[in-house]
Amino acid sequence: MATIPRNSRLSKIKTVSKPEQLALFGGQPAFSSRVHVGRPNIGDKARLYERLDDILERRWLTNGGPYVQAFETRVREMCNVKECVATCNGSIALEILIRALGMTGEVIVPAYTFVATAHALQWQEIKPVFCDVDPKTHNLDPARVEELITPRTTGIIGVHLWGNPCDVEALEEIAKRRGLKLMFDAAHAFACSHKGKMIGGFGEAETFSFHATKFFNTFEGGAIVTNDSELAEKMRLMRNFGFKSKDKVIYLGSNGKMTEICAAMGLTSFDAMDDFIASGARNYEHYSKHIARIPGLSVVPHDTSEACNYHYMVVQVDEALAGLSRDDLVKVLEAENVLARRYFYPGVHRMEPYLSLQPMAGLVLPVTEELSRTIMVLPTGDAFSVEEIDRLVNVVEEAVAHAPAVRAELERQSNA
Ligand SMILES: *Cc1c(COP(=O)(O)O)cnc(C)c1O
Repeated sequence: MATIPRNSRLSKIKTVSKPEQLALFGGQPAFSSRVHVGRPNIGDKARLYERLDDILERRWLTNGGPYVQAFETRVREMCNVKECVATCNGSIALEILIRALGMTGEVIVPAYTFVATAHALQWQEIKPVFCDVDPKTHNLDPARVEELITPRTTGIIGVHLWGNPCDVEALEEIAKRRGLKLMFDAAHAFACSHKGKMIGGFGEAETFSFHATKFFNTFEGGAIVTNDSELAEKMRLMRNFGFKSKDKVIYLGSNGKMTEICAAMGLTSFDAMDDFIASGARNYEHYSKHIARIPGLSVVPHDTSEACNYHYMVVQVDEALAGLSRDDLVKVLEAENVLARRYFYPGVHRMEPYLSLQPMAGLVLPVTEELSRTIMVLPTGDAFSVEEIDRLVNVVEEAVAHAPAVRAELERQSNA
């Protein structure tokens, strides 16, 4: 069988000048193979193989081996925090932290997030109380948080969406004044900073995800970071079934351990992290420059004066100006082999079990509803080049330029 060149999707150049040339109308797709959002960033393979070989030679595969220890040290140093508890994924990191903080009853979370933030609460029978977000930052709106506090509220979970930090100071002030625990789901914000201080050091503690689709991956993985050593010790025991010593269990624990192989991948990702960030920054600048000329499309900005991982390329579509909705553009791109994502559609409050448990939640979430209708996330990362960005933006520009024809064709196809 002939091998397919890995970069084959770069080999064809297409400039669209008539709507019929869009793949939607039967033209050649702009990309010859599918392009995904969240394609893994992968560091130096040879270095990873060396590490894997060493792990197998040592026969120490998990349970806090030298690779996990080295990985935790690197995370601690980068985040400038005292403690790091590496875990098997970001969801377990959230669950362990929520339990270790003693959250119960109700906890305030944004509805505009990945569903795992809410699941980590509901899994332990804590009610996620969905809060609306700020239309500019897409993060928890502190004024709305305050309105949702009841006698049953025990905590607040902020999410630094797209790697852009929450209004940390306002949330800290509310948590302190109202006697609530404050933690952050920093799954998007590894290697990002807020007012010059690295994400990881805010609130009681923060959690990361190192899932394959995140900017920095350990295949699957996560971590909890904090400056509270007592809390960290508790979480280390919870990560390992609650074992204090050989035959002594002192907490309800789980199995949240990171494996040595995952830690080896993490160390390999650390080696390449500057390159990941550089390619993300390059793509962000290129996209921003070119998307600016398309009516109705705007890039959700990152603060380039802060450390930023540039992992998410987020675009908002104003249907009234573009003549096409976000969903129309996602379909146009899909025909071109680009799988743009509708994050976070339809909103956590519209997913089960929350839709059944809290059917009216959407009434107080106008911004979340609007964002879940208008935001799309585009491919980026070290495997996506500026030439490919040109190609993608060109398609979007042509679709918007021929919006009435595109709409008519989408309508025709949906009725066919
Ligand atoms: C990815 C993600 C998680 C879950 O992390 P996993 O490692 O996939 O379990 C939680 N919260 C947010 C905001 C995420 O994006």
